[in-house]
Amino acid sequence: MSDATTTSISFEFFPPKTPEGADKLRLVRQDLYALNPHFFSVTYGAGGSTQDGTLQQVQAILAEGHDAAPHFSCIGATRDSVRAQLAQFKAAGIRRMVALRGDLPSGHGTFGEFRYASELVAFIREETGTHFHIEVGCYPEVHPQAKSPESDLKAYVTKVKAGATSAITQYFFNTDAYFRFVDEAYQQGADIPVVPGIMPIISSTQLMRFSDACGAEIPRWVRLRLQSFGDDSASIKAFGLEVVTDLCDQLLTAGVPGLHFYTMNQSTAVKQICQNLRLGV
Ligand code: FAD
Repeated sequence: MSDATTTSISFEFFPPKTPEGADKLRLVRQDLYALNPHFFSVTYGAGGSTQDGTLQQVQAILAEGHDAAPHFSCIGATRDSVRAQLAQFKAAGIRRMVALRGDLPSGHGTFGEFRYASELVAFIREETGTHFHIEVGCYPEVHPQAKSPESDLKAYVTKVKAGATSAITQYFFNTDAYFRFVDEAYQQGADIPVVPGIMPIISSTQLMRFSDACGAEIPRWVRLRLQSFGDDSASIKAFGLEVVTDLCDQLLTAGVPGLHFYTMNQSTAVKQICQNLRLGV
């Protein structure tokens, strides 16, 4: 097992949709503060669905004394709307954000004035200089809409050169894809930290659904083992914990700059993984 006590960790939430969800997330936040995370991030619904919720969550975390970053997607946005949003972030004391293109809601709507995340990153730098630490997304197993792996890598390098400070990956279970992506990006001059995004395995149907949508490959042996557990959620969670702890351990041993956990607004699995790895102790 690697010695991971100094590795930076971060946790991602989505804005809760109900008052009960908000109460639950308040407890989850308190639970995760104990792990001394570097920052929290809060996702952003393309097309306006959860944008207020994103800012509210970020403000709540900041008010509780921890760093927090809103995700911000530019799909459907105009230069004026982005300018107004940046002013709102600045006024709220936000110094870090995750800048994304986003997806059209159910394939409908229009792109707006920004075609790609690289254009958003360049605009944020033009408008606000070095005020924000800008995280961008990246895809070791290739973004599902990319024309080719080469064009996807080129798009990532463009995003970095436009002014990104660091990157968070889509989740993956194949470490080779991550290491190859980082090597190739470095060779092309994109030398910012690339933090692996980690998805805890809590539910097998949810994992299969997300993975089909975002293009993350579940290794055959993991998929088959999960299927063999049927509805036995205790076995799924125990197996998931082993698989994801092992994945994180391999990454930490190889010296990754940090780990970013997609918490799904739950603390139990990520806390167990961190405890197994002696992270945040
Ligand atoms: P981009 O970097 O713009 O890439 C999008 C596609 O365009 C890719 O296929 C790329 O290869 C291609 N491309 C880019 N530039 C060019 C170019 N110049 N020429 C040709 N092709 C190009 N979505 C949300 O809606 N809300 C969230 O909060 C959210 N959080 C996320 C957090 C992380 C860490 C990650 C990895 C993803 C997140 N997503 C979120 C999903 C993301 O919005 C989608 O994956 C989206 O489809 C791509 O966003 P991007 O910023 O990576 O886009």
